Amino acid sequence: MRIDIITVLPELLRSPFDESIIKRARAKGIAEINIINLRDYSADRHRSVDDYPFGGGAGMVMMIEPVYNCITYLSSQRKYDEVIYTSPDGIPFSQRIANELSLKDNIIILAGHYKGIDQRIRDHLVTREISIGDYVLTGGELPAAVITDALVRLLPGAISDSESALSDSFQDNLLAPPVYTRPAEFLGWKVPDILIGGNTPEIEKWRFEQSVRNTKSKRPDLFSEES
Ligand code: SAM
Repeated sequence: MRIDIITVLPELLRSPFDESIIKRARAKGIAEINIINLRDYSADRHRSVDDYPFGGGAGMVMMIEPVYNCITYLSSQRKYDEVIYTSPDGIPFSQRIANELSLKDNIIILAGHYKGIDQRIRDHLVTREISIGDYVLTGGELPAAVITDALVRLLPGAISDSESALSDSFQDNLLAPPVYTRPAEFLGWKVPDILIGGNTPEIEKWRFEQSVRNTKSKRPDLFSEES
């Protein structure tokens, strides 16, 4: 899978993809992540990418030309399945959307800034708008990193135990069960006996029951969601 992130702050995105699972997935060729500096596509000699809003008001707006030039150039090289714009008013990101997007071959993620991007980009170039939550961040880089991380860890081979990603929270609309590691007892706080007994079917049953219990107490809304 190839993910191209268009940003005005490329440095902000270097380290999130240079550690742990994502770094290894890139090294193994499972995921190709490119960070593209939008300023390289500005026709302006100052490499500007923003301008004042029509109608007045506070804040700057990301201009259409550099974004158009950048997306047009990238699209001349390969076909993109999605052009995603990260935005607080987008569809809330979820595991279901991550699962769906992880099956795509090539995607662009456009990180916004300032007051946002010229609406014509959203109307004509963007195929999907995603929010990572009901709060406003300074830019779309962290949302782009969140989305990319969630997709890449789902790709076959990214996580050494392929079952692991499928048993995480939100797959099947259930939260994950609790997990423990050694020591079996610490300050008198004990690991549940069932996990030490070695009876795999009983452990699986216990984990499922814990998942249901966890979901009922923390996120009962998940039971009414379609998977
Ligand atoms: N004026 C916009 C509004 O009220 O919806 C907020 C713009 S925000 C300061 C700048 C950029 O950060 C946005 O264009 C978007 O790309 C990104 N951003 C901020 N919060 C976000 C969120 N919750 N989810 C996704 N992207 C977000």
